Amino acid sequence: MIYVHIPYCHRKCTYCAFYSVVSTAHLEDYLNALCREIEVREWPDQPIRTLYLGGGTPSLLSPAQLGKVVDALRRRFDLSQIEEATLECNPEDLIPEYIKALLELRLFNRLSIGIQSFNDEDLLTLNRRHSAAMAFEAVRNAAEAGFDNISIDLIYGLPSQDIDGWQRNLDAVATLPKAVKHLSAYSLTVEPGTILSRQIEIGKVKPTSETTLIDQYNALCKWALVNGFEQYEISNFARPGFRSRHNSRYWTREPYLGLGASAHSFDGSSRRWNTADIAKYIGSLANGDAEHGSETLTDTDAFNELVMTSLRTTAGIQKSSVAPQFSQHLANAVKPFIANGLIRETPSSFEPTASGLLQADCIAASLMA
Ligand code: SF4
Repeated sequence: MIYVHIPYCHRKCTYCAFYSVVSTAHLEDYLNALCREIEVREWPDQPIRTLYLGGGTPSLLSPAQLGKVVDALRRRFDLSQIEEATLECNPEDLIPEYIKALLELRLFNRLSIGIQSFNDEDLLTLNRRHSAAMAFEAVRNAAEAGFDNISIDLIYGLPSQDIDGWQRNLDAVATLPKAVKHLSAYSLTVEPGTILSRQIEIGKVKPTSETTLIDQYNALCKWALVNGFEQYEISNFARPGFRSRHNSRYWTREPYLGLGASAHSFDGSSRRWNTADIAKYIGSLANGDAEHGSETLTDTDAFNELVMTSLRTTAGIQKSSVAPQFSQHLANAVKPFIANGLIRETPSSFEPTASGLLQADCIAASLMA
């Protein structure tokens, strides 16, 4: 599986801690460097099953720029057996001409649209460029053009959003075309260094209470159940057969190649992360490989990662994935959580219950070796 990072955005959203810049001054140089990295990075010579272009805002690229990246990927990798190729898009970019150009690339079969909210006031406080009307239109345009596997992102816990506001967002999803097969709904997290964290520091914005967050999460799960979306991860819901194959593979710790500034890669035993600095990225590729750091994971690191990612999924921790030296540790550590109804043991797994999923990170911290 391959992830390609496009670290450019039209403007910075208040909550965003991803690596992205708003100046496109070096965009062409970046794309040249990215194509160079695609050419030189070593990776087993096997057909690629899933591809994800994320950011940043990949839909900020013109069709010609996107085509250049796609051509480079096609030259270097066997994409003939791609099962899922996702392009992350912002609603304002999804006008009919652009969507038509995307289809002409004959690669992307899934769009992930960053809607975040169907309420204009929320969108304004998040510093998004689109309006609610544009969000509806983007989904309609994509569905009408023939994209039949669309995912949308929403955020709950917004300062301008009470439980009714969140419920109205969920109700809006139910009115979207049937091509919307997937919903990623994230709880707003206040990351250090973001505009939002400064707004909270100076008292301009009041953070959402824990009680409201839990109520909104519960409303989300109830809505999903009623509307035919299965929850398969704490923030991810899909119509049957439409779970994200790419993201699911991260959670089962499959190897992936990350290309672009700040992209991470995993080969099964070590992780590598490219420099999160566009100028350094471009400069280093002129001399060979992208500047990067790396670490080899110990068995304990691997076990802890497995616990952390698996407990956030409804499938939980598969016993067969646990290295033998950690089996007894895990069996002992889960006991109190089984006793208080947060984890359920099956013959093959330890699964979080509905309440366990909500506390997945805390539980995982207690299960680590
Ligand atoms: S569009 Fe996405 S990556 Fe860009 S600033 Fe907003 S949240 Fe961050």
